[in-house]
Amino acid sequence: MTTNELLAVTAGKFSTWYGRPHTVAAYAPGRIEVIGNHTDYNEGYVLSAAINMGVCFLAAPSPDSTCRLVAGDLMEEVAFDMHRVQRDPDTMWANYIKGVFAKLIPHVKNGKGWHGLFFSTVPLGAGLSSSAALEMSAALGLCGLYGIERPPLELALIGQAAEHEYAGTKCGVMDQISSLFGKEGHLVKSDFRTLKVETTPIGSNFCFLVVGTNAKHALVDGAYNERRASCETAAAWFAGKLDHPVKALRDVSMDEWLQYKDQMPALAAKRAAHVIGENERVLAGAEALQRGDIKHFGFLMFESHHSSIVNFENSCPELDFVVDQSRRIPGILGARLSGGGFGGSAVLLAHPQDVASIAQALSGPYLKKFGHPCTVHTIIPSNGARIL
Ligand code: ADP
Ligand code: MG
Repeated sequence: MTTNELLAVTAGKFSTWYGRPHTVAAYAPGRIEVIGNHTDYNEGYVLSAAINMGVCFLAAPSPDSTCRLVAGDLMEEVAFDMHRVQRDPDTMWANYIKGVFAKLIPHVKNGKGWHGLFFSTVPLGAGLSSSAALEMSAALGLCGLYGIERPPLELALIGQAAEHEYAGTKCGVMDQISSLFGKEGHLVKSDFRTLKVETTPIGSNFCFLVVGTNAKHALVDGAYNERRASCETAAAWFAGKLDHPVKALRDVSMDEWLQYKDQMPALAAKRAAHVIGENERVLAGAEALQRGDIKHFGFLMFESHHSSIVNFENSCPELDFVVDQSRRIPGILGARLSGGGFGGSAVLLAHPQDVASIAQALSGPYLKKFGHPCTVHTIIPSNGARIL
């Protein structure tokens, strides 16, 4: 579905539900993580992209302080007063938008609420960040409705705060930044220390496949906490050793790691190798794209996955199978796990004309091996969030 088609469908739902047209329309896409795994909370770098699937959020002013919000896929409504915005565990989907609105209220001058409705083409929980797309479409739409002007980075942080405070997800800000700053035919390179964001061209001759493993592995929370703690241990260890300041693993180079790895606690050394390597792969990957060296870029993706297996130990048999197959299937230029790991999705790099044959070559063997299908989405790096 194109963005215009999505707008038309959403506008139809809005006027049917509310009996009048919307006055403001906003769109925000989901995102993929291309290289840079577990680097954000280590103040490092990520290469990501906004995708060709997103959320359309429409709104019109309310006659009083009431806010009404409709999830256009579910055709379910939540109503609340703008002076009493609260999270509600029974309607999780509304919390993302309530959380965004709560942060915008100080800028609202007229004491009037809004009527809103959103409709999405981003699959939920598929590693494509449907939640950030929801937040950023609402942030832009509500800013448009009230004439609020805030810098995009502030909107990204508002989305992150909504995840933390209203949805209960302690995420970084990569998803929101990618949704806002994405550009057609480009990847987004973010620096999570300075929050500096750049785009790097990849061109229309390349796309990604996101392969969802539909695998659920236990102990994910515990494993995630261990990874974060090990990264902090490693950073503290280097801070006591190196003669330059180390605030996070971002400050440690691979040369320094190689020099000291045998002296440090073994587990912390392994975890650090992944983060330090990922940071260097993001920078090398951006450089490779600048010189049009897609082969090297794909190689870095495979390296990233290898590091997940041996260093960070955040892969699983399903992800390893997909990446392993990817090394053999013609047309796949690179593949790695994407996101937290321990299940979830892998991201593959390919030419658009090879997508159908790749999807076919992966799906059958995956089903045969695991007894359940994988899901394959074709991802085209696309423009970021905007008012329509
Ligand atoms: P993702 O990786 O897709 O962001 P999350 O668990 O962070 O996964 O967010 C998914 C949640 O966001 C859903 O469970 C739901 O509460 C909300 N959400 C996202 N998109 C929609 C939608 N189109 N309709 C209703 N709720 C949605
Ligand atoms: Mg999310």
